[in-house]
This record gives sequence, C-alpha cells and structure tokens, in this order.
Amino acid sequence: MDNNFDVIVVGAGPGGYVAAIRSSQLGLKTACVESRKTLGGTCLNVGCIPSKSLLHASDMYFKAQKEFKSLGIESTGIKLNLSRMMDNKNKSVITLTKGVEFLFKKNKISYLKGKGIILDKNTVAVVGNSNKKEIYKTKNIIIATGSVPTSLPGIKIDEKNIVSSTGALSFDKIPKELIVIGGGYIGLELSSVWKRLGSNVTVIEYLDHIIPGMDKDISGEFLKILSKQGIHFKLNSKVTGVNLVKDKAVVDFTNNTTSKRERMEANKVLIAVGREPNIGEDITKLGIKLNSQKKIQVNEKFKTSVKNIYAIGDVIDKGPMLAHKAEDEGIAVAEIIAGQAGHVNYNVIPAVIYTSPEVAIVGKTEEELKKENIKYKIGKFPFLANSRAKVNNETEGFVKVIAEEKTDKVLGVVLISTMAGTMIAELALAMEFGASAEDIARTCHAHPTHSEAVKEAAMAVDKRPIHF
Ligand SMILES: Cc1cc2nc3c(=O)[nH]c(=O)nc-3n(C[C@H](O)[C@H](O)[C@H](O)COP(=O)(O)OP(=O)(O)OC[C@H]3O[C@@H](n4cnc5c(N)ncnc54)[C@H](O)[C@@H]3O)c2cc1C
Repeated sequence: MDNNFDVIVVGAGPGGYVAAIRSSQLGLKTACVESRKTLGGTCLNVGCIPSKSLLHASDMYFKAQKEFKSLGIESTGIKLNLSRMMDNKNKSVITLTKGVEFLFKKNKISYLKGKGIILDKNTVAVVGNSNKKEIYKTKNIIIATGSVPTSLPGIKIDEKNIVSSTGALSFDKIPKELIVIGGGYIGLELSSVWKRLGSNVTVIEYLDHIIPGMDKDISGEFLKILSKQGIHFKLNSKVTGVNLVKDKAVVDFTNNTTSKRERMEANKVLIAVGREPNIGEDITKLGIKLNSQKKIQVNEKFKTSVKNIYAIGDVIDKGPMLAHKAEDEGIAVAEIIAGQAGHVNYNVIPAVIYTSPEVAIVGKTEEELKKENIKYKIGKFPFLANSRAKVNNETEGFVKVIAEEKTDKVLGVVLISTMAGTMIAELALAMEFGASAEDIARTCHAHPTHSEAVKEAAMAVDKRPIHF
C-alpha cells in the first residue's frame, strides 16, 4: 500500500468514520486508523446502539407483561431470556460495525488497524496488534478519538460490581439491587432498562433535579414519570465513597442541604457521571491546546492550534457529546479540507433520552433565555388532549414551544412523549429554516398523529390551541 494520504483520520467513531467517507467522496485519498477491534466507535460498540437495543427489548418485555392485557391481548407465561436479549444486542452491534467496514471498502478508504500516534503534522505512526509500527504521511490529520467514561475521585470502576455504562450493557444476571450514580441521559436510560427487567433501581444525583441543563418543566415531569415507574431517586446528594464488601458494593452519600449521611448497598453500582475526552500523550506533546476540561480547542473550521491538524466529535470543546453532532462535524471538516464551506449550526442540535416515554429537546431552554435576557413566549400542549396518544394509551407528557416575544421565531422546543425522538426532527428542521411558531401552526399535520401536538403547542404560543 502507498503510505501517502491527503487525510488520515484517527478514530473510527461516528465523527471519524463519517469524516473519512465524506473526505473520500470529495476525492481526497483517505485512511482511517482505529485501535478497537471493530469500527463505529463508542456509539456502535458500547453506546447508542447497544443501549437502544436493550431499551427496545426491555420495553417490549415490560409492555407484554403490563400493558397487553388492557389492549385485549391475553398472554401468559411470558419469560425473560436475558442471554438471548444480549445475543440480539450483540448481533445488532456486529451487523452495524461490519456495515461501516463495508462502507470503507465501497469508498476505497484505507482501514489502518491499530493505535494511531501523531508524530508531527504530516506523520502518523500506527502500532498494530503485534506491536509492529508503520509510518504514514499525510497532508491533513483529523483527530476523532472520542471520549471514555469518567469516575468520581477515589472510586475505581472494575466493570464487575462497580461498572461504567459499558459494563451495565452486558450484565449476565439481573442485579437484584442496582444503584446508579448520576441522573443524566445515560444513567436514566440504563436505569429504565434494568428496572423493566426486574432490578430495584436507585438513582443518586448531586443536583436537586435530574438531567443537568434540561428545561426544568421537563425534568420535573420526567422525574414524576420515572418515579411512578418505580425508580427511586436520591437527589441533592453527594456520593462520598463506593466500597466493595464481599460481593456487595456499599455506597455512602451525603445530602447537600441537611448534611445527613446515608449508606446503601447493591449488587451493582453504575457510575454514570459523564465522559471525558480521550486525549493521547502524542497530542499534548505536539502542543495542541486544550481547554480547562481537557477538550481539544478548535476554531469554527475545526482547526486545532497546530496547522493541518483538525479535531471533531466528543474530543473537542464544541457542542454536546452526541453521535449526530460528531457526524455533522465529520461532514463539515471534510468539506473544509476539500476547500468547501462546511458548517455546523450548534444552535440546532437535538438531543433525545430514549426512555419510555422519550424526552427530546432542541434549541434553548427557558432557563437559558432568562439568563441571556431574551424575552420569549411559550405554548404548551399535553398529550392527554392528543387523539392518537389517547387511543394508544400514551397520554403522558407534553410539547412546549418557546418563541421570541417580538418576532415569534422558534428558539427552542422540548417534549416528553413516546414518539419524542422522532418528532424532534420536525422542530430541528423548522429551526434550521428560521421558522416562527406561526409557521408551524399553519403547517398541515396529518391526523391522527402525535405530531399534531406540535402544531397545537405552536398555536398555543398565540393562545389559540383548538383541542385544549
Ligand atoms: C451508553 C451510551 C449511550 C449513548 N447513547 C447515545 C445516543 O443515543 N445518541 C447519541 O447521539 N449519542 C449517544 N452516546 C454518545 C455517543 O456514543 C458519542 O457522542 C459518540 O460516539 C462520539 O463519537 P466520536 O466519533 O467523537 O467518538 P467515539 O465514538 O468515542 O469514537 C472514537 C474512536 O476512536 C478510537 N481511538 C481513540 N484513540 C485512538 C488512537 N490513538 N488510535 C486509533 N483509534 C483511536 C476509539 O477506539 C474509538 O473507537 C452514548 C454514549 C454512551 C456511552
């Protein structure tokens, strides 16, 4: 193989593999280095995909047990086969990671297996399985090395009793007691999975609300819904230690207001307190600048402080740590390297929590607008008044459209609904085109659909919803 490239991408997660495909589409000779055995990064191997597989399967199991009867479907003897559920998840992961390998071949991307080490702005060494080192030359480098789970000071993740999300995606038995430290997206999704499958789940969260940064209306409502589902919450509580005593993990925590100390024990403890950028030593030695959270600093063209070296995805100091953000950056950076005008609009990046019901958000929250002194009006519509949600017995949740007071321009939308993850796309598109609430209100929405609630919430901005 000729070892000279136009672009070498380090890391084949959704940021890296998409950057490689787009670079190749644009006629750039491209290679992608990946140290994991399979392509697709955190997302496909131990993130979005396996978690969604378990969320879907556990939701089906739960519904078959608890909801089918009310729909007139009599079912007896429903049993859980956890190892088959895990096999199904693993099969999805294999199919999708192989799919990326196929796309690499189709796009004539050189797949370099091993750890990529950046020696200088035009040279990448790849250390393979047998420790053999190959040197590659390139005009441009894209760092897409992603992120890894973080822990709390003094708490060691062993992936047996004290696990990260990776361990919690592969338990071989239902833990009788599961303590989840961290009430963010990942913690709540995995709490839902194991609760539905039979665990007694307690979430311990430092803040006095769940989902940091989320619209307060939504996090309050969501807390009520999850509590009704039987998940226990200890909010406003600081975990001070997690220790193994025989085969149990003992968690100590203190209430931030009352200073009251508590101790709980569980078979498994999931540490879901966030993720940190995956920064190699090579990068710091090259003088690439990092911010205070150790994320790579990039400008609006994804350039790092070192010429010809770009960075995208979870590892950079822009936007949320989400797969679709990384993918959009992958497309933009390739286009920029090819001399085009690649761009990512960070104001319109949707985020979804895939629980049941789902939670979705795009744009600004009321709290952010208040801080920025921007005057706004809101329109809210509950799914209780949506006909499709009613016939499906899915009446929990609401849509909230937030529009600028003077111009009516949509600044943000939040929603809780079984269909929230799919519905948010319409709102992202509307915001990308600078739509007003009135634009959404005057757009014909099919009946009967959950999406009619979006139209109604947009009408409610002008205080004229029809069905509420
Ligand atoms: C449990 C869980 C659920 C999630 N669910 C969602 C979801 O539903 N939706 C969503 O949008 N996001 C979700 N995320 C987040 C999402 O997975 C990440 O935002 C996304 O994977 C980031 O993509 P990336 O390309 O930046 O990095 P990554 O996906 O982390 O990929 C980086 C890759 O680089 C490789 N690498 C690192 N260093 C080197 C090196 N020196 N040489 C070679 N290779 C290297 C790594 O092995 C890795 O494969 C979830 C994450 C977790 C953990």
